[in-house]
Amino acid sequence: MTEKKLKMPKSFLRNSNYKYILIILGFVVAGACNVLAMAQREETVPDVDMTNINLLTEPGGIAEVDISQETPGWAAYQSKQMTLEYPSEINLRTLEARLRSRSFSVSTLEKDLFANPAYAIEKRIIARLETILLRVEQILAMSPRIDIKIKVFRTRAELNNEYWIMFKETHDYKSFYVDRYKTIYTSLEDISDSVISHEMGHAIIDSYFSATPPPKVAELLATYVDEHLDDSY
Ligand SMILES: [Zn+2]
Repeated sequence: MTEKKLKMPKSFLRNSNYKYILIILGFVVAGACNVLAMAQREETVPDVDMTNINLLTEPGGIAEVDISQETPGWAAYQSKQMTLEYPSEINLRTLEARLRSRSFSVSTLEKDLFANPAYAIEKRIIARLETILLRVEQILAMSPRIDIKIKVFRTRAELNNEYWIMFKETHDYKSFYVDRYKTIYTSLEDISDSVISHEMGHAIIDSYFSATPPPKVAELLATYVDEHLDDSY
């Protein structure tokens, strides 16, 4: 196509109405290109492990569950920043062992609190959870004021039953975090330092930002926490 053929008639450009139409068309095309570019970026975000999800942004889908009441048959142990709840008959030694699989450097005082057999096992477990929380805060460089509840069910089936009670949806999750209740839900079958650090990541991210980050961004950050839990620093 020659250049000549591309030239518009002078009368066309002189007409101001046509100029405005061209300008508006320009904006429409630019906007469409932007939307396409954003869609392209979205597709490049890698798939995330949806066994861990963040339910912060689902206020409409959540059932009212009164968590202020003590659950019969459950025990609770509280520290400065968190409350651990579990069925009173579960084997706390199993729970403790599951939270000791990852190794990262901690202060002598911290180590004494979670490793010294002189302390009660509940105290050691919650000290270990606090150590993990501190580590997660370091990785994210975010330290919001936060009180987390961790509810440990006996089995994944019981955990998913709790999910059904809250959301009336059936899923198979190892763990999930509900920001509305500031609670991490998991089970003795699946709990580990990795699972807990991932969900603590969600709790910290959701408390740190005044506007909730998009779920995929929060998921990537929480996954990053788990992957870097035992990096030296
Ligand atoms: Zn997640």
